[in-house]
Amino acid sequence: MTLSLYNTAVREKQEFVPMEPGKVGMYVCGPTVYDLAHIGNARPVVIFDVLARLLRYLGYDLTYVRNITDVEDKIITAAAENGESIDELTRRTTQAYHDDMVALNAEPPDIEPRATEHIDGMIEMIGTLIEKGHAYEAEGHVLFNVPSMEKYGKLSGRNRDDMIAGARVEVAPYKKDPADFVLWKPSTPDIVGWDSPWGRGRPGWHIECSVMAKAALGITFDIHGGGRDLIFPHHENEVAQSCCAHDGAEFAKYWVHNGFLTVEGDKMSKSLGNFRTVRELLEEAPGEALRLNMLSAHYRQPLDWNAEGVTRSKTNMDRLYTALQNLQDIDAGTVEPAPEVVAALEDDLNTPQALTALYTLASEANKASEPVEKARLKGQLLGSGQLLGLLMLDPADWFQAGEAGDIGEEEIEQLIKDRIDAKTAKDFAKADVIRADLAEKGVTLEDGPGGTTWKRT
Ligand code: AMP
Ligand code: ZN
Repeated sequence: MTLSLYNTAVREKQEFVPMEPGKVGMYVCGPTVYDLAHIGNARPVVIFDVLARLLRYLGYDLTYVRNITDVEDKIITAAAENGESIDELTRRTTQAYHDDMVALNAEPPDIEPRATEHIDGMIEMIGTLIEKGHAYEAEGHVLFNVPSMEKYGKLSGRNRDDMIAGARVEVAPYKKDPADFVLWKPSTPDIVGWDSPWGRGRPGWHIECSVMAKAALGITFDIHGGGRDLIFPHHENEVAQSCCAHDGAEFAKYWVHNGFLTVEGDKMSKSLGNFRTVRELLEEAPGEALRLNMLSAHYRQPLDWNAEGVTRSKTNMDRLYTALQNLQDIDAGTVEPAPEVVAALEDDLNTPQALTALYTLASEANKASEPVEKARLKGQLLGSGQLLGLLMLDPADWFQAGEAGDIGEEEIEQLIKDRIDAKTAKDFAKADVIRADLAEKGVTLEDGPGGTTWKRT
C-alpha cells in the first residue's frame, strides 16, 4: 500500500508523493509560549508525531520542523500580568512544553525555530512584498493587501464576506481593504520591538511561519500541518505571503489538519476556560494512557475528552502491557510493526483501526502456545508500539508506576522486607496484615520462587 493523506487544499484523500523521491519536509505550527499547554494543544503534537514516525518507518528522510512562537501579544500581556520578563516567561513555558510532550512520547522535531531568531528574515520578506505591490506601509504598520492576490481564499474556500466577518478583522482607518492583515506593527518604547525600515516594531503572527518554514525547508515543501482552527486565517495568510513573495511559487503541497479536541462538544480552549493542562492530567494518568486516548479517534474527527475515556485508555494500556509481561521470558523476534497496523496508518493515519489491530495482537499473544509464535507476536507488539509511540516502557515499570497520592516504591519495598522478616520470625499474622494493607493501597504481592514481586492494580 502507499501512504494517503487527506489534503485540505483539494478536500480529498490523495496519494502522498514527495517532491523529491525519498525526502520529506514537514512544517507544523507550534505553540505560542505564554502558559502551560492544554490537552487540546497536544493533539497536533501527538498526531504529527505519529505521521513523523510513519514517514520514517516508510523509509523517508524526514525533516520535521515545529516552531515556537515567542513573540505575540498574548505573551506580552501574560508577562506583564505575571511580573515576569518576556524572556523568562517564554523560556519557562517552552521548557514546560518540551517536558509535557516528552511525557506523551512525542519525539522532538528536527528543527525548532524560535520566531525571535528570524526577525531579519521577516523584515526581508515584508520588504519583498512591498516591492512587489502586495503590501503597503500605513501609520507604522505594514499590511498585506488581500485584493492584490487573486487566489486568496483558495485553501480555506472562504468567500470574501466570510473572510471579513470570520477574521474579526479590526476595521482600522489606515487599511486599504477591510480584509488586509498585519505583517508588521509598531511597538511603543515599553513594548518589545526591533528596528525596521518602518520604525521600531514587531511582526504579525502569520509572517513568522512563512519565514521560519522557508528558512528550514525552502520555498516549496511537502507537508504543512496544524489544527483546523488555523486553516483560516493563519494558513490562508501564510499561503498569501509566501506565494506572493516568491512570484506565485507553490508553498506547501499537502495541508494536513487535525480536528478539535472537545469538552462536551465545545472546542477546548483557554478562552472558554474548559481546558485541562497536560501537566494536571499527567498527575492522574500515565502519559501513554493519555496518548492512547488521543489516538482512539481519527485525527480529522472531533475527540471528546472526558474522565471515562482516560480510564478506558488506562485499562487498554494495562491489557497491552499484560500481554507483553506474559511474554517476558521470550526473546522478541524481529521488531517490526504488524502489517495491519502499517496499512491502517497508511490510510490517512487511521489510528483507531491501528489500535484495533494492536489489541488483536495482544489477544493472539495471550493465546499463543508455540515459542516461535510468541516471539513473532512480541516483535510485532513492540514494533507496532514504536510506530504509535506506545509500549515504550518495561511492563514491570508500567505496572509499578503509581499515580500521585499512591504509596511510593521505597515504602512498598520496605514493607515487603518487613513482611519477609515477620515470616522469618513466624509472625504470620503480621505478614498477612502487611499484605492486606498493601492490597488496600492498590498493590498486589506475588510470592514466587525468585522472591516477592509487586504490581499496582
Ligand atoms: P495555539 O498555541 O493556540 O496557537 O495552538 C497550538 C496548536 O494547538 C495549534 O495547532 C492549534 O490548532 C492546536 N489546538 C488548539 N486548541 C485545540 C483543540 N481544542 N483541539 C485540537 N487542536 C487544538
Ligand atoms: Zn503557523
